[in-house]
Amino acid sequence: MTEKLSADKQQRFDDIRANYQTICENIEKAAAESGRKKNDITFLAATKTVEPELINYAISLGLKKIGENRVQELLSKYDEYDLANADLQFIGHLQTNKVRQIIGKVSMIQSVDNIRLANEISRQSEKNGTDTDILVEVNIGREENKSGVFEEELEELIGEISLLKNIKVRGLMSVPPICDSKQKISKFFDKMYKLFIDISTKKLDNVYMDYLSMGMSEDYYEAILCGANMIRVGSGLFGARIYR
Ligand SMILES: *Cc1c(COP(=O)(O)O)cnc(C)c1O
Repeated sequence: MTEKLSADKQQRFDDIRANYQTICENIEKAAAESGRKKNDITFLAATKTVEPELINYAISLGLKKIGENRVQELLSKYDEYDLANADLQFIGHLQTNKVRQIIGKVSMIQSVDNIRLANEISRQSEKNGTDTDILVEVNIGREENKSGVFEEELEELIGEISLLKNIKVRGLMSVPPICDSKQKISKFFDKMYKLFIDISTKKLDNVYMDYLSMGMSEDYYEAILCGANMIRVGSGLFGARIYR
């Protein structure tokens, strides 16, 4: 039994190593195709449902950023992450009443889409004596049950957040609708890139358009071609998720 288990685990390590290498090569190719270098693209691994041992293995291969979706899961895994060698971010939907639990633990919250949430991040960061970087999440496909602000509300929200203390807007994030073709998804990525450039050009005070976070396992290549400089890859690195 023990031998069987360790063989399975070895297989998972091997798969992660191979996947990591493939993704890095694809990042380099897509970056080159869009006139950039591999180091211009930040590779964040989405680690929901993944055991810390496997996450830390990916970190040992060179992965520098990880992102969790759920506060409870993040807290339960927190002491086990190799955070000496990687940076932890929050990428999921965040309820205002849970902000306090992750401030000081995450370097960035990628999923801010309303001023109440931003206010609470500001308040808790000030209390904690830290600054928290955030991305504003855009619901680019205008989907009903999805997080994110609509594009026409984006600039006003960013303006409001920029006035708050201990919180810094560092860019935009999006999870576009599921599409049945690369062409369709690229339309959404193009729209996001346009918003990103429009806002960068305005040079708003206290707003830094450093990151455009879009693209997941199935579409990160297209996202990079459309201008993403941060991708969030989960199953493509760790394999299919097993929900317990
Ligand atoms: C799970 C998740 C990802 C990664 O999804 P995969 O399809 O597994 O690559 C990226 N972003 C967010 C916000 C996620 O929740």
